Amino acid sequence: MRQRTLSIIKPDGVSRNLIGKVIGRLEAADIKIMAMKMIKMTKEQAKGFYKVHEGKPFYESVTDFMSSGPSVVMVLDGDDVIKEYRKLMGATNYKEAEEGTIRREFATDIEKNVVHGSDSEENARFEINYFFNALEIPAQ
Ligand code: ATP
Ligand code: MG
Repeated sequence: MRQRTLSIIKPDGVSRNLIGKVIGRLEAADIKIMAMKMIKMTKEQAKGFYKVHEGKPFYESVTDFMSSGPSVVMVLDGDDVIKEYRKLMGATNYKEAEEGTIRREFATDIEKNVVHGSDSEENARFEINYFFNALEIPAQ
C-alpha cells in the first residue's frame, strides 16, 4: 500500500554530518523524498511534536535535544513506507537495533539516535501537517 511518512534527521545527525548517509539509505531502499527542509525547532515546537510522550521521564530531555540545533524534516513516499522506513532506522535503543540499520550504525545514545520516523498512518498525517503546508507537499 502506497503511503507517506515523516522522517527527521535529528540535531545529532545534522551536526555529525550524517545527512548524506541517511539520504543515501533512503535512495538505496527506493524510498522517494516528496518534500524536504532544514528547520530549527523551538522548545515549544519540539514539545508539540512529541506531545504523545508528555509526562514520560524522557520528555523534557528529548524536547531539549530536538530544539538544540537544526534538523532535516522530510516527507517520504513509498510502498508500506511507514514500516519500511522504521525497519531502516532500527530500534529506538541503538544497542538493540539490528545490524545494518541507521541507528545501529550511527546512534550514540538512546536519545541521540539520529533519525525519527512516524509509527502509524494517523501519526504520519499529524506529523506531516505539523511541519509542511499544502504548497510544500505535492498532491496525493
Ligand atoms: P522516534 O519517535 O524519534 O522515531 P521511536 O518511535 O523509536 O523514535 P519513541 O518511543 O517514540 O521512539 O521515543 C521518541 C524519542 O525519544 C526516541 O527516538 C529517543 O530520542 C527518545 N527516547 C525514547 N525513549 C527514551 C529513553 N528511555 N531515554 C531517553 N530518550 C528516549
Ligand atoms: Mg516514536
